[in-house]
Amino acid sequence: MQIKSKFLIAGAIIALIALTSMQGYLTFNTFDLRKKSFAVDSRTKIGDIVKTKYVDSLSWHYRMDFVDKIPDYKRNRISKEELLADLKFFANDRNDEFTEYFNKEAERLGLNENILFKKVASSIQLIDENGNVENLLTEDKDSPIFLIGTDFLLEEGLLINAWNWTFDKGFINDNHQLESVTVKYRASIYMKIVDWDKIIFKQLLFLFLIAFLLFLFVISLVTYSIRNLFKHKRISDIKTDFINNITHELKTPLSTLSIATKTLTNRFAKDNTDIAKESIDTINRQNKRLQNLIDQVVDNSLGYNDINLNLEQVSLPDFINEVCDDFALTLPSNIQFLRDVEANETEVEIDKFFLGTAIINILNNAIKFDGTVLKVKYNITNNLHTIAISDNGIGISKKNKKLIFDKFYRVSEKNMHTYKGLGLGLYYCSQIVKAHHGIIDVESKVKEGSTFYIKIPVENGKENFIS
Ligand code: ADP
Repeated sequence: MQIKSKFLIAGAIIALIALTSMQGYLTFNTFDLRKKSFAVDSRTKIGDIVKTKYVDSLSWHYRMDFVDKIPDYKRNRISKEELLADLKFFANDRNDEFTEYFNKEAERLGLNENILFKKVASSIQLIDENGNVENLLTEDKDSPIFLIGTDFLLEEGLLINAWNWTFDKGFINDNHQLESVTVKYRASIYMKIVDWDKIIFKQLLFLFLIAFLLFLFVISLVTYSIRNLFKHKRISDIKTDFINNITHELKTPLSTLSIATKTLTNRFAKDNTDIAKESIDTINRQNKRLQNLIDQVVDNSLGYNDINLNLEQVSLPDFINEVCDDFALTLPSNIQFLRDVEANETEVEIDKFFLGTAIINILNNAIKFDGTVLKVKYNITNNLHTIAISDNGIGISKKNKKLIFDKFYRVSEKNMHTYKGLGLGLYYCSQIVKAHHGIIDVESKVKEGSTFYIKIPVENGKENFIS
C-alpha cells in the first residue's frame, strides 16, 4: 500500500510536470503563431493602403521632381549629394499629405495604431546612352533615403515589399545636344510594430488567464489528492494503533477471567467455598474492568454535539479547588502537586461533571507521562477563564502537538506500551471544552514538560471560540 501510494504520488508529480511543460510549449507556440499571423495581417493591410492610385500619383510626383533635377546633375550644376537631398526633400515635402491619407485608411481597415510604415529609396542608377552605369545609391552599401511614412531604424522594421521603376529622361547637354539617361530606381517599404509583444500578449490575455487558472486548478487538485492520501494513511495508522491497543487492554482481563472460570469449574473449588468466592470476586472485578473499558470507548468517543451538559452557575475558583482537593487525595507521595488559583467573583455556567472529568484526564495524563511536579493555575486573562495544567513529564514534540486532540491519536513511540491508553482522553477533553464554547491548547517541550490550557469565555455561550 505504501509503495503503491509512493508510485501514485510520483506519477502525479511527473504528470503535472509533463502537463506544465506541454502547456508552456503550447502557449509559447500560440504566442509565436499569433505574432506571425498578426504580422501577415498587418502587412496585407499596409499593402492595401499603399497600392492605391492615390499613393502612386503621390510617388509619381516626387519621383518626377527628382528626375527633372537629373539634367542639372549631368551638367554638373549640382553635386550627387545635392541631387539625393533633393529627392529626399521632394518626397518628405509630401509626407504630411501621405500621413493623413495613411492614418485615415489605417483606421478604416482596422490596422493597429502601433504599426508604423515607411518607404525608402534603396538603389538609384543612371545609365547613359553608351550603357555606362553610375550608381548614385547602392543597396546594402549606402544608407537608403527616407521618402515617406515614419522614419524608424531599418533594423527595427520588417521589409514588406520592394519594386523597381525605370524612366528615360532626355535633356540638352552642355554641347547643346540631346542626351538621354535611363534612371533605374528601387524603392522598398518597411513596417515596424511598436510594442509587438505587448499587443499579442493583450490579445491572448484571456487565453493565458484561462491556462493559468487551469494550471492552478490542476496543482490544487494534485496537492489536495496527495494531502488526502496522507490523511487517509494517518487515519488508517491511527485505527491500527487503536486496534492493537484495545486488544492489548482486553487480553489481561480475558486471560484472568479464563483462569478464574477454570478454577471454578475445578471439582476442588466446588467443595471449597473460599476458593470459589475468590474466583467469583476475580470474575466480577475483571468483568467490571471490561465493562469500564467498553464504557470508556463509548463515552469518550462522543462528539461535542452529543454531550448533554447539565449546566449550573459555578464559581470556577471554588470548583477548581474542589477538583484539586479530590485529586490530591489519590496522589502517591512522590508527586508534588502545586496550585495557584486566583479568586474572583465571576460565576460561569458549566457542567461540573464533564469539566471535572476533563481536568482530571489532563492531570492523570501528566502523571502517566512521567510528570512528578504538577501545577494547576487559574486566572482570568483576556476575558477568558484560563485553567493551565502543567507537568514536568516527557513533553510532546511540535509535530505531535497538532495531533494529540484527534480521536484515537497516540504518539507512536517504540515504547508505546509503557504508557497505556486508547488515545481518547484528550479528544474527549477537547469535545467537553468545545461543548462549553471554549478552546483547549497545549504548550510543550520534549523532555521538559507540557502545559495544557482550557479557556472558557467569561460570557459563556455568547461567543464560540472554536473555528
Ligand atoms: P492516551 O493517554 O490514552 O494515549 P490521550 O488522548 O489522553 O490518549 O493522549 C494522546 C497522546 O498525547 C498520548 O498518547 C501522549 O502521547 C500525549 N500526551 C497527552 N498528555 C501528555 C502529557 N502530559 N505529557 C506528554 N504527552 C502527553
